Amino acid sequence: MTTKQLLSGNEAIARGAYEAGATVGTGYPGTPSTEILENFVRYPDVYCEWSVNEKVALEVAIGASLAGARTLVTMKHVGVNVAADPLFTLSYIGIKGGLVIVSADDPDMHSSQNEQDNRHYALAAKIPMLEPADSQEAKEFTKLAFKLSEKYDTPVFIRSVTRLAHTNSIVSHSKPTNRPLPQGFERNIKKYVMIPAFARLRHLEVEKRLALIAKESNELSINQTEINDKKTGFITSGVNYHYLKEIYPEATILKLGMIYPLPVEKIKKFCKIMKRVIIVEDLDPFLETLIKAMGITNVQGKKLFPLTGELNPDIIRGSLSTNKSSPVSINIDIPNRPPALCPGCPHRQVFNVLKKLKLTVSGDIGCYTLGVLPPFSAMDTCIDMGASIGVAQGIEIASNRKKKNTVVAVLGDSTFAHSGITGLLNAAYNGRHSLIIVLDNGTTAMTGMQPNPSSGETISGNPTIQIDYHKLGESMGLDQDNIREVNAYKEDEIEKNITKLLTSEKLSLLVIKGLCVIFKTRRIKQLKKGK
Ligand code: SF4
Repeated sequence: MTTKQLLSGNEAIARGAYEAGATVGTGYPGTPSTEILENFVRYPDVYCEWSVNEKVALEVAIGASLAGARTLVTMKHVGVNVAADPLFTLSYIGIKGGLVIVSADDPDMHSSQNEQDNRHYALAAKIPMLEPADSQEAKEFTKLAFKLSEKYDTPVFIRSVTRLAHTNSIVSHSKPTNRPLPQGFERNIKKYVMIPAFARLRHLEVEKRLALIAKESNELSINQTEINDKKTGFITSGVNYHYLKEIYPEATILKLGMIYPLPVEKIKKFCKIMKRVIIVEDLDPFLETLIKAMGITNVQGKKLFPLTGELNPDIIRGSLSTNKSSPVSINIDIPNRPPALCPGCPHRQVFNVLKKLKLTVSGDIGCYTLGVLPPFSAMDTCIDMGASIGVAQGIEIASNRKKKNTVVAVLGDSTFAHSGITGLLNAAYNGRHSLIIVLDNGTTAMTGMQPNPSSGETISGNPTIQIDYHKLGESMGLDQDNIREVNAYKEDEIEKNITKLLTSEKLSLLVIKGLCVIFKTRRIKQLKKGK
């Protein structure tokens, strides 16, 4: 009997990995990808971890794959930037156990610092990419991705977007594949050790493999045509397929499930029988550029649609309408609700102090980015995970503020573990004297309370190590007196310590500790329930 269940795209990807026989999952939490691992960890006989960052997550995944385990690694789109270094070489060495990488993109920046289009990573790293349109496809495409990975000795990307990740639709379950027992690592230096002599040979293999996959993509049923009239045809992928069907149920469509490499013959054949072809895609003209490069001239794309933000049925309808003068207007006065630090957040006090002291604040990703907004308005930069420390150093260097230091770096505990530690090491090594403030709330709050190396537990809830800031700072040569811990609720203490440490000619680490109130409330409820 087939079981059917209402699943989000993220839950369906986790289910797909399980049905495909994956036994290892790694990742770093990042909206909209977080729930994939949170669901995968619930399946029996799988190993899951929150790694400290996406680069490490991919490196662990590579090791597991080379030892023969089918492995899933998840991250949000900007996380792929962090993992890009091992990613490009992984493409050369290939895999042993199937390796699937989920890139969860965020068109329209619902919860991100940019809206980069990660389809370019598939092209640049020469890694096949599949893009599902709903939860059923999310599950099936994940299974197919594992198959293709092992068939062609390549990692495979699943591209998800926020709408797919967090939208629920019906999914039919299948019996999980028998989990092949990983046979362990086998030495193969020409494949796994990328010194230039071996890497040059591997690059040739990558090109051969891509040509074979491109050929097979013409036959793959996930690239499907629905032909009705031959006047106007659409080429699209992912959730935009459903938007198109909603507006034009009878439309002629070539729906691409594999968006890299493209099924060239299928696309050429489709465009040849159509008078006019419209490419419907979010963000960059990725498909459009590749299709025009095939020498096809009857296609249009971004000339009609916006280059920024996500598409939706209204935008698609509006972009294709000849009557541009009468857009649909909805006259509802929706109050503006800007995000804010939670009213009871223990780390509000520190932003009051930073504002009062008129400091230049180099900020970071997470809850505390919201310190930029009123009533605090106490943040001056925010670039990427862990960048606060390096950026503060750069400001300090260029401003030549040798005597009076007015620059501080502020970041959360998870971000510190993710990539702040290397910034701290750089500051110590280069003799900087900035003040680094870690706001330790005991969890990774912004993405939904995942544990991290400051929390003392793993993704499975097992006890583990906890960062000891004193020992860490000391090991990098910081003076004990320049490493301090303060209670987040003691505003006076916070001010006193910041003022004191700013007068120091040495690098300082101030850890302000206060458990996230949402996390605390949740824990109390769990304890009451006896969990
Ligand atoms: S989620 Fe927690 S840490 Fe983040 S702002 Fe709210 S209370 Fe503070």
